[in-house]
Amino acid sequence: MEIVCLDLEGVLFPEIWINVAERTSIEKLKLTTRDIPDYNVLMQQRLAILAEHKLGLPDIQAVIDTLELLEGAGAFVQWLRERYQLVILSDTFYEFAAPLMRKLGYPIILCHHLVTNDKGMITNYCLRQEQAKRQSVRAFKLLNYKVIAAGDSYNDINMLNEADAGILFSPPDNVVAEFPQFPVTWTYEVLQMEFSAATERLRA
Ligand SMILES: [Mg+2]
Repeated sequence: MEIVCLDLEGVLFPEIWINVAERTSIEKLKLTTRDIPDYNVLMQQRLAILAEHKLGLPDIQAVIDTLELLEGAGAFVQWLRERYQLVILSDTFYEFAAPLMRKLGYPIILCHHLVTNDKGMITNYCLRQEQAKRQSVRAFKLLNYKVIAAGDSYNDINMLNEADAGILFSPPDNVVAEFPQFPVTWTYEVLQMEFSAATERLRA
């Protein structure tokens, strides 16, 4: 039996922070780990910007609630769930993911969480563990599952490397160039074909 580990942002939904930046018109929230490689520095800056603009968790959740699944993502998730055990592995936070999980029928998601005060302001964040995606894949393998994983960006590479089969979906050009070992897919149809091919290989 295989477990499918799927990234969330860029694979099933658009990027959360970029959309929050666009809908709040706060340009500086568009910065990502590509601009500020140190994730802790980036997150502390994001939290400072939210505090400066007096944006609390409910404001951000209201924006996230307007995000729709990427076209075809709903049918793709249904296809996966009919064939595999599906787990979403994400570097987002439960408090951000909640409105999105409702649109997916509440699959299992393993991610991080936010710390808020009694006024709903986000005061800090808590990573469940370092390299959470990789550690999750390792744990599933210890449980004797084969793992097929798909993601779109740098923070997925450890997960894809650890999995029995790793697939890139809609990645940026630099990720394709740097990690030629992974098949690259651009549509859910082709991604499904890669999942099926990987399954056949793993069962052979
Ligand atoms: Mg992603």
